[in-house]
Amino acid sequence: MVSSEAAPFAKTGGLADVLGSLPPALCALGVDCAVVLPRYASIDVTLAECVYNGMRVYLGGGYYEVDIFRRDVRGVAFFFVEHAGLYGRDGIYGDRFGEFGDNPVRYAVLCGAALGVARYLFPTDIFHCHDWQGGLVPLYLKNLGAGDPALHNVRSVFTIHNLGYQGLVARDRLWDLGVEDRFYRSDLIELNGMASLLKAGIVFADALTTVSPRYAAEIQTPEYGYGLDGLLRARSAVLTGLLNGCDYGEWNPEMDPYLAANFSAGDLTGKQKCKQALLDEFGLGDRVHKPLLGIVSRLAHQKGFDLLDGVLDEMLGYRDLTLVVLGSGDRDVENLFWAFAARYPRNLIFWHGFNHPLAHRIEAGSDLFLMPSRYEPCGLNQIYSLRYGALPVVRATGGLDDTVDAETGFKFWRFDSWDLAECLRHALAVYAEPARFRAMQQAAMRKDFSWAKSAQRYLDLYQLVLNRE
Ligand code: ADP
Repeated sequence: MVSSEAAPFAKTGGLADVLGSLPPALCALGVDCAVVLPRYASIDVTLAECVYNGMRVYLGGGYYEVDIFRRDVRGVAFFFVEHAGLYGRDGIYGDRFGEFGDNPVRYAVLCGAALGVARYLFPTDIFHCHDWQGGLVPLYLKNLGAGDPALHNVRSVFTIHNLGYQGLVARDRLWDLGVEDRFYRSDLIELNGMASLLKAGIVFADALTTVSPRYAAEIQTPEYGYGLDGLLRARSAVLTGLLNGCDYGEWNPEMDPYLAANFSAGDLTGKQKCKQALLDEFGLGDRVHKPLLGIVSRLAHQKGFDLLDGVLDEMLGYRDLTLVVLGSGDRDVENLFWAFAARYPRNLIFWHGFNHPLAHRIEAGSDLFLMPSRYEPCGLNQIYSLRYGALPVVRATGGLDDTVDAETGFKFWRFDSWDLAECLRHALAVYAEPARFRAMQQAAMRKDFSWAKSAQRYLDLYQLVLNRE
């Protein structure tokens, strides 16, 4: 696998969770699986072994010299590509000044190094590449032809975790990425006057997947397709939607070490203690009998929190709901939460930033969990919140629609403040009937989205791709 993130080493979102859990689940099925990842400054390699010193990755006119470190975790070989100039910085994709301008080069080198890992360190049948950062592997493979006996039979699977990030590069920079100008064609990698590394993955991979069946259908429509819907329709025969799983080793309220108390579907008393502890943390302990709505998210435009602008006065003022928000991202969305937190200091907590233990405590302490996404390829937080009995309130899109139903949560369809408000009113009405609410919590907690099933589907796909002529 080739990816820019993998838990527990580097994480900004769900992609990391997938790369942390799918590979060990595949190992459990007997697959030899490796993950190739940049060695960001935050990754400690003292427990890893340097297995290749000075590997040359040729791109354009020159080469980058990288070192490869290996560390095995839960049966998976993690290969870290080290290059101080490219990856030894604060931040994964950017820092406080914004995105790194050389991201395309950073991930081109990752893709080139992944080919080196396959050539010298980990004989490979299939490359499974993730998002635009892995998009050049399928292109490089197709371009090698028979010239490289170690690689010319290797197949590729490309997974779209989010079509909203297309890895755009100016045409005149392609040479620096080791991509010849002849690929710059509208039926290959050109997209709206730029080259797209995501499109490279979609065009050249042997099979395509995305992370839920519903999203697989949505991205073939102009509304969700970012200009790639035509291409995706043309490739629909090799495109499948495979739902992400949940790592219940990490997300399990019965043994979660971050919680004030553990609990299960059969005994929810611990959940009430978690709610009390979460409120106490913010000096709001007297509000334990009011409904508590949680949010844990990147605060990106995609996530749809701008809808709350037309909703929060009613919910926080008139209905006296408690809202706990954990996240950071777009300035506009952050400002919205800062403004409402100032207006409602007694019932809106905005914790700005990334905080893994707090994410667990919010899932455990909340009665309801909000994800009003514009689009959502799969979404993991609603799957965690199902298991933690925090009933999801979601817009019925992508994986949210595939994983939440009327027995386990609350959905609205149109991306509209009014519809969200109506959905929240309904959720609060059910909350006011404790027996009914508890029955829904128990149904939610008993849902099973474990990786084993999804991993088997990936394995079936790998076998199909290998057997195809
Ligand atoms: P996406 O991949 O689009 O960000 P997902 O719902 O698939 O959304 O996955 C989000 C993952 O990132 C979850 O594991 C969630 O707990 C975590 N996460 C997001 N924001 C934060 C945050 N501010 N603090 C801690 N964890 C977060």
